[in-house]
Amino acid sequence: MTPTPRTFRSRLAILFGMLFVLVGLPTYLYVSKVHRDQLVAERLQNLQGVTTSAATVIAENLIERRREIELLAQTSTYQQSPLDSPEIRASLERLQRSYPHYSWIGLADTAGQVQSATSGHLVGQSVSKRPWFIEGRQGVFVGDVHEAVLLAKLLQTDPSAQPIRFIDFASPVYDTQGQLRGVLASHSHWRWAGDVLSVATPKNAARTQTEVFIVNKDNDIIFPEHAVEGQTPPTAELRSASHDAFLSWGGTTLYLTTMADVADPVAGTPLGWKVVVRQPMDIVLSSVRQLQAALLLIMGGGALAFLILAWLGAGYISRPLARLTHIARRIEKGEENVQFPVHGKTLELKRLSGALSGMANTLLERRRALEQLNTELEGRVAQRTAQLLAANEELRTLVRRDALTGLPNRFAANERIKAAYADMGRGVAPYAVLMVDIDHFKHINDSWGHAQGDAVLTRVAGLILHTLRETDFVARVGGEEFVVVLPRTGLAQALQVAEKIRVAVADTPIAPVGHVTVSVGLTVASPTDEAEDSAVRRADMLLYKAKQDGRNQVASAPPADD
Ligand code: GH3
Ligand code: MG
Ligand code: MG
Repeated sequence: MTPTPRTFRSRLAILFGMLFVLVGLPTYLYVSKVHRDQLVAERLQNLQGVTTSAATVIAENLIERRREIELLAQTSTYQQSPLDSPEIRASLERLQRSYPHYSWIGLADTAGQVQSATSGHLVGQSVSKRPWFIEGRQGVFVGDVHEAVLLAKLLQTDPSAQPIRFIDFASPVYDTQGQLRGVLASHSHWRWAGDVLSVATPKNAARTQTEVFIVNKDNDIIFPEHAVEGQTPPTAELRSASHDAFLSWGGTTLYLTTMADVADPVAGTPLGWKVVVRQPMDIVLSSVRQLQAALLLIMGGGALAFLILAWLGAGYISRPLARLTHIARRIEKGEENVQFPVHGKTLELKRLSGALSGMANTLLERRRALEQLNTELEGRVAQRTAQLLAANEELRTLVRRDALTGLPNRFAANERIKAAYADMGRGVAPYAVLMVDIDHFKHINDSWGHAQGDAVLTRVAGLILHTLRETDFVARVGGEEFVVVLPRTGLAQALQVAEKIRVAVADTPIAPVGHVTVSVGLTVASPTDEAEDSAVRRADMLLYKAKQDGRNQVASAPPADD
């Protein structure tokens, strides 16, 4: 089955739609890609900025806390006053009030026994095993975040709450001779980290789901304190020179992730902290998706507009074609007075219309010429047919006529006798047959020549014809022999006719030959005759008898059964 051919306008509409998609799709893909790359680069830079400033703020704060302890340890009070003196106790309380996150500040002697402390906590107790004390004897120390059970019990009233974590700063205390007197230490509440980071965290962090983490050297998240279960910062990947912008933290979500090292507050004893900032990929790329949706919408609208325009345009272009088709159909149905519109909007249409118009005119002219020719031919055929009929008629006559005398010939005589015989068969009265033969004609020919003989023949024929009635029939059937048929004639009446012929010939001199005579054999046909020529043969025999009996006479006999 051949498929129905598509219309011009649907073809054009599909073509335009496809063209639009062909041009639009790469554009869409290119624009989305460029936009995405730009956006990711921008966001990455942004996030890196947040990370770096957070790392800087943390480092500066750590150093500030360290320096505070360090400077305090170097004051004259700490160099000279007894370790449990009210001056020192007052100094400790002042420092704690100056910075809200200090949970505890205390001074231990070289043996590790706390001599002075804010609020008197842990005074008299030994801290000799604590890292800050051990390290603080050697030099300035900043300790990693840790839970301090003993101190926590003293500070926390609610036992069900999360354990309090601290970060320790410690500095050795020397006397004026440079001899170690003890270790001065401060424990800062880990809330501190949150406060410090809030300075560096962007205002819209919650909305943009930007999260800032502090990670220690073991890659554990130390801030925020309640990190999400199963989430590990991809620090190893971040260290590598080239890594994807979006990294997995162990779950299914990918994050735009940046990292910055926190400068160590004490040279030589690295804390190894890092600030890691992340933002979910979905949030980062949401504007890309918005752009993609907008582009798709524009493209869809564009494609639709293109389709509609192509549809309308094709309709506009193909309308004259449809009109030409309509006109051609009218011509096909036989209309003649149809004009093709030769004014076309396009050159091709104008040419097509002109060509069709020319073709239609040529065809019409040819048809008219053919019709005219047909009419002429019909006339000619009719004329020829009439001529042929006339010729046939003439031929018919000629075939039945004797050329010399103008009388019917033997062929016509046979037809006539056959018809008369048939009539008699149908009950028509019998007919008489006369055989007339010129006497000694050979002699006339011999004496006067053939031409004179012909003239005699013609003259005798005229004499016989003249004697007969209109319904009678005479034909020349041999050289100088004639047959006469007298319809519905009895023997007696026929005898009169025969005698009239004989007398007419014998009495009429024919110049230059003179008198000529004829002999006649006469009989009447009978319904008992076996054949149509029976009467003729009988007449022939009677003619022979008349010749025998001396010529110039009539020999007659009725049919055999009469
Ligand atoms: P009979 O009295 O016994 O009839 O003798 P005849 O001479 O008339 O008969 P025959 O049959 O012996 O001769 C007939 C002649 O008629 C012979 C022939 O040359 C001549 N004849 C036949 N047809 C024509 C013709 O058309 N024109 C002329 N001029 N002569 C003819
Ligand atoms: Mg003869
Ligand atoms: Mg003769």
